[in-house]
Amino acid sequence: WKNAPPTLRDVFLNGMRFKDREFLVHEDERATFDAFGRATLTLAHRLIADGVRKGDRVAVIMRNLPEWPVAFWAGQLAGAIVTPLNAWWTGAELEYGLADSGAKVAIVDDERLERLSAHLKSLPGLERVYVSRLRTAAGDDRCRRLEEVIGAVNDWGGLPELALPDVPLAPEDDATILYTSGTTGKPKGALGTHRNMTSNIGAGGISAARNFLRAGQPLPELDATKLPQRCTLLVIPMFHATGLSATLSPALNAGGKIVLMRKWEAEPAMRLIEREKVTATGGVPTIAWQLIEHPARAKYDLSSLVTVTYGGAPSAPELVRKIAETFPGSQPGNGWGMTETTATFTSHLGKDYEHRPDSAGPAAPVGEMQIRDPADGRTVLPAGAVGELWVKGPQVVKGYWNKPEATAETFVDGWLRTGDLARLDEEGFLFIIDRAKDMLIRGGENIYCVEVENVLYEHPDVMDAALIGIPHKTLGEEPAAVVHLRPGGRATEEELRELVRSRLAGFKVPVKIAFWPETLPRNANGKIMKSELKHAFPRETEAA
Ligand code: ATP
Ligand code: MG
Repeated sequence: WKNAPPTLRDVFLNGMRFKDREFLVHEDERATFDAFGRATLTLAHRLIADGVRKGDRVAVIMRNLPEWPVAFWAGQLAGAIVTPLNAWWTGAELEYGLADSGAKVAIVDDERLERLSAHLKSLPGLERVYVSRLRTAAGDDRCRRLEEVIGAVNDWGGLPELALPDVPLAPEDDATILYTSGTTGKPKGALGTHRNMTSNIGAGGISAARNFLRAGQPLPELDATKLPQRCTLLVIPMFHATGLSATLSPALNAGGKIVLMRKWEAEPAMRLIEREKVTATGGVPTIAWQLIEHPARAKYDLSSLVTVTYGGAPSAPELVRKIAETFPGSQPGNGWGMTETTATFTSHLGKDYEHRPDSAGPAAPVGEMQIRDPADGRTVLPAGAVGELWVKGPQVVKGYWNKPEATAETFVDGWLRTGDLARLDEEGFLFIIDRAKDMLIRGGENIYCVEVENVLYEHPDVMDAALIGIPHKTLGEEPAAVVHLRPGGRATEEELRELVRSRLAGFKVPVKIAFWPETLPRNANGKIMKSELKHAFPRETEAA
């Protein structure tokens, strides 16, 4: 395998060059690259001893703990298809994920075990469950404590140094099943290869590592004192493609440190940014907003921040200006991607982004984009026209696990039909208009929800806004907004309608606006769950 093109094993090997640099920080737990490597290799050999063979599914279900990347990379080194499941899922949803993927081994934390325990008996194919941080007895004889294999995080450095498992891996081998967010239906497992993952990171470092290996030379250690270490405050879950990729590009590829949080909260996040000298954070737009608006922000030294980036959900153009204002030394960044594109497909940073604040940027160099007529799914539309976005590239997965019909609908002739409405400008910058499913048609007139939401966000009192359709006898549907105001905010329904009226065509003005008492319900990836907002307008939806 030493002469084959790169796989995730090469990414792992590359990371091992950073030896004594810190890699993972979680509360008072710290692990260097070397300690992480020892724990990962130890677990990889254990998985193989448990009977995990090439292509078997190993599920990882934990909150963002340091054990998460160990489980993921151990699975990769053992040749498994690693299947991260959403840690926010209920027991029944986890059962769905484990049954759907046919997982042979699951690596979970104590909270997930609790949720799963009633479901384990319905999962006969699951042969072994490793449980991290377990204090009570497990109750199912397939369960083992993960710490019995790898010990506690702070002790990983003392584990013996083991050789890489001799498992043949090729770039086209399946490496991951990542579930989509389930915003528009049941989550689908996107089946990704090693190449899908590796093509999403800068390949420079990996190739260098491989060249040394091929020449039979030891990998040179990098002098950490000469390069400032990047540090990511990872506030999005690793089970999502974007969170997972944080362990790839900035970390194992470039020697960056990752700081993990038990749960996202703005003030503890600022404390960590100051303490760990965090250089990059972000994730979803809400997180950036919460940092910008926090009343205690001035108490903390956030000057180490170099980038504040987000993606995965629509963001108001207003946010770019706010970031530039609030964090003068840092660059705002945005990107568009899907689970099916193994995280970020386009990216947009700094001045470019400030100039085109409503764009998600150009495609990564290896990717191609087309806007096609949604009616036939074939005709390619010219620059400036709105249509459905189709994408192609080595980071696009080959299909959905176990879903031949959805695969045939979505993956056509080497292209991925994204379900997003968008336009491209002359220079290839992408402007996402909305999800095709997030467009209302009011008596034949198209209303893109995001357009109206962005206007609502311009009002200083508006913290959260979502436009949904409510049924109408003759028009089919009409726009209605659900809004959550900032503490002390006093905006009235009429004032907000007036704001939209002053900016957009009359048919786009919400006919009703409901005020939601809390921040709007979101799924694990920060997307507003519009289906849960329908009862803000009880009469109308009952009629539906
Ligand atoms: P499901 O496919 O299960 O319904 P999902 O599409 O939300 O869920 P993801 O793969 O996590 O699952 O999200 C991809 C979608 O997120 C894109 O299709 C797009 O609609 C949205 N998205 C991603 N990035 C952006 C962005 N920068 N701006 C607007 N929307 C974005
Ligand atoms: Mg989707």
